[in-house]
Amino acid sequence: MMKVLVTGGAGFIGGNFVHYMVDKYPNYNIVCLDALTYAGNLETLESVMDKENFKFVKGDIADREFINDLFKTEAFDLVVNFAAESHVDRSIEDPGVFLTTNVIGTQILLDAAKKTDVKRFHQVSTDEVYGDLPLDRPDLFFTEETPLHTSSPYSASKASADLLCLAYHRTFKMPITISRCSNNYGPYHFPEKLIPLMISRALNDESLPVYGTGENVRDWLHVYDHCTAIDLIMHDGRVGEVYNVGGHNERTNLEVVKTILRELDKPESLIAYVKDRAGHDMRYAIDPTKMESELGWKPKYNFDSGIKETIEWYLDNKDWWQHIISGEYKDYYEKQYKNR
Ligand code: NAD
Repeated sequence: MMKVLVTGGAGFIGGNFVHYMVDKYPNYNIVCLDALTYAGNLETLESVMDKENFKFVKGDIADREFINDLFKTEAFDLVVNFAAESHVDRSIEDPGVFLTTNVIGTQILLDAAKKTDVKRFHQVSTDEVYGDLPLDRPDLFFTEETPLHTSSPYSASKASADLLCLAYHRTFKMPITISRCSNNYGPYHFPEKLIPLMISRALNDESLPVYGTGENVRDWLHVYDHCTAIDLIMHDGRVGEVYNVGGHNERTNLEVVKTILRELDKPESLIAYVKDRAGHDMRYAIDPTKMESELGWKPKYNFDSGIKETIEWYLDNKDWWQHIISGEYKDYYEKQYKNR
């Protein structure tokens, strides 16, 4: 019986991963630890709450005493660390909490895992640690050897955590793996991020704020495919290794917004160009060869099928996102986009 700690499991990707693990491994005990920040939502976990192989614990990964006690009482076999402050715009406004959670929090988890018999510590990272690629070089992709070259406080904090993980592997021989994934989309995505922001606003016939000219390219992966990749890495990946995860689905932000408008039968006149994000990365593009050749990973979704299914989900689950956009988030949105 394996006991798996999933941190940040009330968030977007962690939440999808909890659903995936609870279903796929009925013989594993899944413990979700989440501080329930503005991005955490217990409604995401509603359908697994009463499953026998699932438990939710509220707590902060940056609280050393709490984390040490938890690791002592629970004796985890696997740890998957999703917990993070994850929004680039918020990291530009207030970098401090990004360092506390993403760097110190990861270090506290590593220290706790070091003292117990954890068989695998998997760190969920991002392709943003590589910085960006120029728009006029479509032949270039991020590989695991691409130097770290971060642009935002968010990506700098994630890169710092990656380096700590690699150092703990080298120095303390800890069984650590890291995945660096491209942009995810899918169910339970907090509406401050591009795709759910555009879907929720378009459905309400509100203007769709697009940074700059909308030319920035992101490499989109359905969250389900990210979950299958992490599952493979944490079971079969080699310790001390980094694995890039992406499905070759590059789209400009403007293309993504126009696709959403088309699918929802809404006019392009809803698009409102706003002042660009400071330090905005131009293009992300992942080379997933190592995942494919070493672990046999293959994504199930292409962007066209995945985005249709995701839009359907937002149409079928209005309660989930309407609660969010009517609360504290409304003030954040006003502050972020008003007079931009
Ligand atoms: P999210 O913001 O939706 O969720 C983060 C979760 O972590 C929330 O539930 C929040 O309550 C929790 N959390 C925050 N601080 C915490 C703390 N101190 N202690 C415990 N829990 C805390 O983020 P996401 O988009 O699901 O991203 C999850 C992970 O995946 C992050 O590490 C992120 O860097 C990485 N990632 C995200 C993407 C993407 O496209 N969203 C792509 C690649 C990698």
